[in-house]
Amino acid sequence: FAGIRGNAALLAQKFIGEILHEGCVAVDATAGNGYDTLFLAGAVGDSGKVFAFDIQRGALDATAGRLKQAGREKNVVLVNAGHEEMGRYITHPVDGFMFNLGYLPGGDHNKTTRPDTTIKALHTALNLLKPGGRVSIVVYTAHQGAEDESDAVDQLAKNLDPGVFGVLRITFANRSSSAPFLIFIERVNEENESLAP
Ligand code: SAM
Repeated sequence: FAGIRGNAALLAQKFIGEILHEGCVAVDATAGNGYDTLFLAGAVGDSGKVFAFDIQRGALDATAGRLKQAGREKNVVLVNAGHEEMGRYITHPVDGFMFNLGYLPGGDHNKTTRPDTTIKALHTALNLLKPGGRVSIVVYTAHQGAEDESDAVDQLAKNLDPGVFGVLRITFANRSSSAPFLIFIERVNEENESLAP
């Protein structure tokens, strides 16, 4: 876990990247400037598929530009819709989901993710997740409305059935309480593991 000092997004990539390989299906639930989308596109390769959602056209344009520059646009579907609608676009099981909540860096700070839609999207994601699949959530706590959202995500994470999901909550122990935190979720793969007492 090199480079963890301040970079929650990088930690999330490491968690998700570990289980992705050529041919996998992955979802970037918050495309933003496209860094995670590009990462996922590289991880699933030419025979894989990535769906990336954002409510802002400008974010998807930035993501499209980043993918094109890297020659990775072929296997990515960019969806200009809220992630709470993802069930309308994705019907097959998914290997990995990345949620990087909050607002677009450098963009309108009012166009932020919200508790009700975030929770709806997370439920859909957990239903679509393959055994052994993973979900990463980077949760911000400092902006307007962030507390309601971080509380809602915490509640969802706490209440997941431990027989079905492994759940980690990661905080930066030596940073301020307004630093982001991470929730990492893995769906148990019954074939390879049994739950320890
Ligand atoms: N993962 C991005 C990257 O690598 O650049 C950063 C994401 S940024 C922190 C959060 C993004 O979520 C913003 O671009 C915002 O427009 C988007 N967003 C807000 N509400 C959303 C929703 N309901 N569905 C999908 N995206 C949403």
